[in-house]
Amino acid sequence: MCVGGCEQAVRAALSRRGFFRGAAAAVAGLSAAPAAAAEAAPRSFTRAVDLTHTMSPDFPTFMGKPGIEMQREFEFRKDRFNLFWWHVVEHAGTHLDAPIHFSEAGLSADKLPVEQLVVPLAVVDVVYQAEQDADYLLSRDDLVLWEQKHGRLPAGCCVALHSGWGELAVSDPARFIGRDVNGTLHFPGFAPAAAQWMIKERQVAGIAVDTLSLDNGESKEFKTHRLWLPSGRWGLECVANLDKVPASGATVVVGAPKVKDATGGLTRLIALV
Ligand SMILES: [Zn+2]
Repeated sequence: MCVGGCEQAVRAALSRRGFFRGAAAAVAGLSAAPAAAAEAAPRSFTRAVDLTHTMSPDFPTFMGKPGIEMQREFEFRKDRFNLFWWHVVEHAGTHLDAPIHFSEAGLSADKLPVEQLVVPLAVVDVVYQAEQDADYLLSRDDLVLWEQKHGRLPAGCCVALHSGWGELAVSDPARFIGRDVNGTLHFPGFAPAAAQWMIKERQVAGIAVDTLSLDNGESKEFKTHRLWLPSGRWGLECVANLDKVPASGATVVVGAPKVKDATGGLTRLIALV
């Protein structure tokens, strides 16, 4: 028996539990998960953390051109409402890389099942290594070390590279891009061997970086992109605030754009902690 407000609270808690049980079960079915693992434990959260950078024409981009242009079409003072016309690059700001970005017939952003977009978040801290080496590649050893501390990477998870570069996007855009006198960029990324290991040995839905690219800045062949995306998995680039979420235990909600045939696009990324 409930009194004043209690019933509402219980209902809210129950529907939240149901939501996460459903999402976790669906994610467990992502790849070759054994049937017994299909019923994952329900998850709950107490706070939401925004892993998204504010997008603007000034936000640093891989191509060096503004990732968005905003043209004021209607103005409140004159028209009694405000409206911009956006011209936006798919791969700028905090954004998704869909499998089709680096494959001939991979899924586009609109086709990614939502069950693969609400997933456990594993954050791998390589801040120290990246301080010593701007071209640092997150290795298989880093993943093994994470597992020694936190247990096996959860089925259907997102593995995020936390290099400390996230805050540079705002405080020091030139260092965030890391362009040297020869035009080569310098920032950390995932080693192709680490990507290969996650594809073969673990069930990972997506990888995320707080830098401009899944590959490190000096990469010319984009090997990690070429391994990861054609395997049907997604990526996230320019992720913010990875220092504000735990290494293990959070859930990430990937608010990817549902635009027909999109190869990626601006994404609102929220961690539930
Ligand atoms: Zn991209």
